[in-house]
Amino acid sequence: MKRLQLHHWILIAMGLGAALGLGLNWAGSQGMVDADIVGNVAIVGKEIGDLFLRLLQMLVVPLIVSSLITGVTGMGDLRTLGSIGGRAIAFYLTTSFLAIVTGIVVVNIIRPGEGAELALLEEGAASGALLAEEPRSIGIVLWEQLESLIPKNPLAAATEGDMLPVIFFSLLIGVFIGLAEHREGSKDASVVRRFFSGLFDVMMQMTLFVVRFAPIGVFGFTLYAAAGKGPAAFQVLGWYVLTVFIALLIHATVTLPTILRLGAGRSPIEYARKLTTALVTAFSTASSNGTLPLTMQEVEEAGVKPEVTSFVLPLGATINMDGTALYEAVAVLFIAQVYGIDLTIAQQGLIALTALLASIGAAGIPHAGMVMMVVVLNAVGLPTSAVALILAVDRILDMLRTTVNVWSDSVAAAVVDARE
Ligand code: ASP
Repeated sequence: MKRLQLHHWILIAMGLGAALGLGLNWAGSQGMVDADIVGNVAIVGKEIGDLFLRLLQMLVVPLIVSSLITGVTGMGDLRTLGSIGGRAIAFYLTTSFLAIVTGIVVVNIIRPGEGAELALLEEGAASGALLAEEPRSIGIVLWEQLESLIPKNPLAAATEGDMLPVIFFSLLIGVFIGLAEHREGSKDASVVRRFFSGLFDVMMQMTLFVVRFAPIGVFGFTLYAAAGKGPAAFQVLGWYVLTVFIALLIHATVTLPTILRLGAGRSPIEYARKLTTALVTAFSTASSNGTLPLTMQEVEEAGVKPEVTSFVLPLGATINMDGTALYEAVAVLFIAQVYGIDLTIAQQGLIALTALLASIGAAGIPHAGMVMMVVVLNAVGLPTSAVALILAVDRILDMLRTTVNVWSDSVAAAVVDARE
């Protein structure tokens, strides 16, 4: 018999987790199993999944630092860095914008909020702690983002897991290693370069080891989502979930593949197949940051140059979130529909812009997009407490949008690679 590959095991684990979780959830709703038991099984699933996510997160900082520094020093000269960086950022902005437009068109066609009864939604609403968050204006968010790029203390930023300042500082180190090496008389700078390149090899090796536990982690998270939420959460918010799902599907299966084919001449199906482990992990963990080690490994195995992956993927995992951008726009328009507020085209334009900024500002961790919703709601003067209405289904939508986020980062890497 042919030996099953890792991604097959991951898919099997996901199927098992879903079947077991949904079965238990159903049995619980029929009174055949104590609801407490179902709840506890969900919690155990989450604990198991979290353990795997922690393993991945453990790799992220040393991996990003060593990979960026090695990538930059390997580029040879600063012009290459400039052109890769410029192309990557142009890609991020274009695709996120296209995602938002898709979301806005789909939500205006389906109009999920019109059928939803506010009273029913309020009944199911959770009073999440995140609502305690002070609403901030988009200008302030932007400024804070810019400011946070520069770490007061790079080591502290790394300890806190603040990715943008870590990326910024690592890029600078890479650039200055190059400059120092070219200065006559400096022999020691190359020791630093070799150190980081060695560290990078070690981290990649560790990633290969950790990824073997993926089926267990994926099983845990799927069990948690299926047993904990079950189909009940979807009944009231069904149309909303469907709207986000359709829009994400269009972006992931039409827009991005078209860009991949035209921009990199690659077959989207082939490419996606090579990325199975990363995509399934993104789906189950709902964390682009956590998935990053796997994304880097698989995109490189798919033949994208290390100079490109080491730069485009960490930056993408931090600021390029097509799925999140789309989700922000759809969710806010949905809420407006529920409250019976008709938004003008100009207001929808404002939502598009804030959704883009919110997606750039959102961290690559579970539910980050949900927290950023407050910013977008605030920008168009909708009650920020409305976030509670859609909290119940955020996990499943988070899983979907994170998968799209990682898919978009991977397409970005292939396209930038083809152009270099
Ligand atoms: N969980 C998403 C990610 O990691 C961010 C979000 O919540 O939208 O990409």
